[in-house]
Amino acid sequence: MYRRLIAPGALAAALMLAIPASAADFTPGASGIGDPYYPDYGNGGYDVSHYDLRLKYQPKTDVLEGTATILATSTQDLSRFNLDFGLKASEVLVNGKKARFATSGVEELEVTPPTGLPKGSSFTVVVRYSGKPSDVKLYGFTSPQRTPDGAVFANEPESAAWWFPSNDHPRDKATYDVSVAVPDGTQAISNGVLQSQTSKLGWTRFNWRSNKPQATYLATLAVGKFDITTDKTADGLPVVNAYSKDLGDNYGAARASVERTTEVAEWLETKFGKYPFNALGGYVPNVPSHFALETQTRPFYSPAQFANGANVSVIVHELAHQWYGDSVSVDGWKDIWINEGFARYSQWLWSEKEGEGTAQELADYVYAQHPADDAFWTVKPGDPGAENQFDIAVYDRGALAIQALRNAVGEKKFSEILKGWPQEHAYGNAKVGDFVQYAEKVSGKPLAGLFDTWLYQPSKPGTAAAQRDRVAHAGVAPAKPKSWKQIAATNSVHDH
Ligand SMILES: [Zn+2]
Repeated sequence: MYRRLIAPGALAAALMLAIPASAADFTPGASGIGDPYYPDYGNGGYDVSHYDLRLKYQPKTDVLEGTATILATSTQDLSRFNLDFGLKASEVLVNGKKARFATSGVEELEVTPPTGLPKGSSFTVVVRYSGKPSDVKLYGFTSPQRTPDGAVFANEPESAAWWFPSNDHPRDKATYDVSVAVPDGTQAISNGVLQSQTSKLGWTRFNWRSNKPQATYLATLAVGKFDITTDKTADGLPVVNAYSKDLGDNYGAARASVERTTEVAEWLETKFGKYPFNALGGYVPNVPSHFALETQTRPFYSPAQFANGANVSVIVHELAHQWYGDSVSVDGWKDIWINEGFARYSQWLWSEKEGEGTAQELADYVYAQHPADDAFWTVKPGDPGAENQFDIAVYDRGALAIQALRNAVGEKKFSEILKGWPQEHAYGNAKVGDFVQYAEKVSGKPLAGLFDTWLYQPSKPGTAAAQRDRVAHAGVAPAKPKSWKQIAATNSVHDH
């Protein structure tokens, strides 16, 4: 009904133009959103506001089938548009009418609606599909992980295309309803709030809602047999944590870490301001990978993160991303420092609070640890290149830049910047340059030189710059802070 109401308005606007819009004026949307690191990722010509995914997953066969309903608005006169998708579509409808579709490139699903979509029109896309996600290779790899009792969809930046069609780039964020039916006795974990759960004819359906804008790579789905703990925060937000029943010796340490989610999030609120989402939690499925990921409201943790006992530092890192990365997302993947520099720095702040080494001591240690000829310094955290997007320098040198900022502006302004930034760009996207400008505005100090030194020079900043920014001290080599080993153990790589 909404569409019918606005269509006459759009038509009237078109008639008022001297040149009538004809089909010939309608052009295809671009096959990429315009990110130089990943030219194919995302698409042009439209903007998604909501994904409704109604899915069914059978762990025994790895068959995922379902229907995605996508609400979008055209940003140009569109003759056709692309979705990014790796599974096989069987039918596509646009505004309820059958659309032609074809595949091209690595993951492009080209959709041609029966009539063009004038710029500014809201439209609805329905895609019916099925497939075996673990059989699908895109860009030479498979993103999801199968487990003995299910599967896990959590990866960065590539994850969505293995389980739902999307405009797969953080610049196009949307809200989500994810409804998944799995065999009775198995659970489906996703983002946000569990709205309801029903069982019928041997299948249990879990209905999840993530009601704030969410990047495609931050949408997650885990199917398996989990022990689930639930709680409420002091603010009344639901907390849902899930642990595979077969984590073996890592089970206790995983629980002893993830059960501290509420405590850590409340501590982070004292640094970054109010928690931005409708739910909290974390999940630890039985996967062989080593990494953790800040999937929105409910981070993913590999069991390997807990092999040495409880690891609260990784919880701090992934929860810090809820502000730095999830609520305020990268504009392009070159802006990854906006995510990782701050998530790493939050681990330094936690170390400081726990008395295991101050952020200053960690910064001094990082600076001293890498000699000038170390390749570490050739990576520019402010623009690392796609191949170095998750290089350790983005994290450690990235955090060093933040300590330099802290020393330059003082505690009071630094705290204002850390808290103000997630408000300034809440639920949106931002570039590294936006942060530099914001820090200058709040502090009233010129900071372009400082950030150029620490984020953009492909070499080790010299002693003079390091002493100016007080991240290096003359004389004795700094001792290794107590927290160093645990923080370093969270450096796991987004390996494919
Ligand atoms: Zn991170």
